[in-house]
Amino acid sequence: MTRRFVVQRHRARRLHYDFRLEVAGALASWAVPKGPTLDPKVRRAAFHVEDHQLGHADFEGVLPAGQYGAGDVIVWDNGTWEPRDRDDPAASLAAGELHFDVYGEKLRGRFVLIRTRPATDEWLLLHKRDEYAVDGWDPEEHPRSVLSGRTNEELPH
Ligand code: MN
Repeated sequence: MTRRFVVQRHRARRLHYDFRLEVAGALASWAVPKGPTLDPKVRRAAFHVEDHQLGHADFEGVLPAGQYGAGDVIVWDNGTWEPRDRDDPAASLAAGELHFDVYGEKLRGRFVLIRTRPATDEWLLLHKRDEYAVDGWDPEEHPRSVLSGRTNEELPH
């Protein structure tokens, strides 16, 4: 089965990247303030947030002032993903640890999500050292949408 993966760069009150994995017909979602990276030495804080509908994976645009998440959103990366620990990602997430491979345009290779603080649903997102790992890789140096080629700043506001 093919599972969708998307990362949206979202300039809301604070910049963050919304990292989303299709699980059981919805997009399981984490807000990653510093964004995902291919650097295997880096662990990113990832705050588990509410599931989004699958259709949101293609959303790019401006959320008006006054609305939750007001700000601009680009589809920063997308593609597919596969679980690597067992073929039941919902159970892996419930257990607080998911190992997976991502096949995006920017992100590639083996990632891990680990729940570190169950009380606040805080996780860590990290990239394993594999053939896709790149030391020092910074998502902010790759700012364009994979759908439109635009940056957040270039969206019509
Ligand atoms: Mn967001």
